Amino acid sequence: MRPEIMEEVEALRGVNSVKIKEAHEAGKKVVGMYCVFSPQEIALAADAISVTLCGTAQAPIEDAEKELPRNLCPLIKSSYGFAITDKCPYFYFSDVLLAETTCDGKKKMYELMGKIKPMHIMNLPQTAEGNDALEMWKNEMIKFKSFLEEKFGVEITDEKLKDAIKLMNRERSAMRRLHKLNAHKPAPLTGVDMMLAQWLKGFNVDKEAGIELIERLISEVEERMENGIYAFDENAPRILLTGCPIGSGSEKVLKVLEESGASVVALENCTGYKGLDVLVDESKDPITALAEKYLSTPCSCMTNNNGRLDLIKRLAEEYEIDGVVDLTWQACHTYNIESFTVRNFVKDELNLPFIQIETDYSDSDVGQIKVRVEAFLETIGSTVTA
Ligand code: SF4
Ligand code: SF4
Repeated sequence: MRPEIMEEVEALRGVNSVKIKEAHEAGKKVVGMYCVFSPQEIALAADAISVTLCGTAQAPIEDAEKELPRNLCPLIKSSYGFAITDKCPYFYFSDVLLAETTCDGKKKMYELMGKIKPMHIMNLPQTAEGNDALEMWKNEMIKFKSFLEEKFGVEITDEKLKDAIKLMNRERSAMRRLHKLNAHKPAPLTGVDMMLAQWLKGFNVDKEAGIELIERLISEVEERMENGIYAFDENAPRILLTGCPIGSGSEKVLKVLEESGASVVALENCTGYKGLDVLVDESKDPITALAEKYLSTPCSCMTNNNGRLDLIKRLAEEYEIDGVVDLTWQACHTYNIESFTVRNFVKDELNLPFIQIETDYSDSDVGQIKVRVEAFLETIGSTVTA
């Protein structure tokens, strides 16, 4: 049985779709965002709502493929499909969109999406290393701030930025505490529930209410742990899931893993721990602090991306991981190429079993994935008991 509060968490998307409509009618501005590099604090400091618009559903992909190539990552097609079909209330109520120059597919898709709604594009450096990259990213923060000030007719002061930084740090800290509960052996939450709780925060119109809900969930889970109630038994293989972002509708690999008996205890990807690892430094000038925090995101779009290996190592140790699963969306070149480096690192440095699964959002290959996952878990079983 899952924690009772998960029902409230699961209802967040529906609840927030009503709240965003009400907020829009009350004159509140909405900024739609697509990436973990997006500085939500600047939107909040403009007294706007920030929502995550990344497409995680298969449904709009068919429409997207009428305008985009079929052999494109499903996340890009799904995001674009929602935009052209106007079936997502969060896209519909967004006054402006924020995009970043991350991977090639997204960059070129944004050129088309930018014709549908006003869009600001932040030019992300190709590397996170060195002072030039930081200066460039700081400048991009300032340009986004000016864009919102002009669009919404507001002044974004340092005080407002500092308040927004504090709020977002509180949200990150709460989500981080929740994620770390699964470091316990056995894990108290399924990976599917953890993913839902982490992913659904992106729709929170009222961030304070969202933080309060997660704190209540943490309390309930802690109480269950005191009473010996866990999601899996102690012998379930403990998996770290890395790679491309997932969400509701694109969680099939996570589901197959857990239906096959694994306990997915750490989600290293963007809908999991990646954005929670580093807080914004509240003692620094806000723009510098924001630039430093967001530039530290270990995404495969960066050259090089050693921060990802470092994070995988830390999570593998802290969560007592038995095996690493690397999920790659079809046609995602950056994560696909990087998988070779991750595989070698996991096998040679961490001495852990590794598997890469390359797939899309459709259910057509679930049977094949299940066969591979079961064989992988058998390998782990023999390693764990050896
Ligand atoms: S994987 Fe990279 S490009 Fe995709 S959402 Fe995360 S940070 Fe952004
Ligand atoms: S999963 Fe890969 S191809 Fe798809 S948007 Fe993210 S970085 Fe780009």
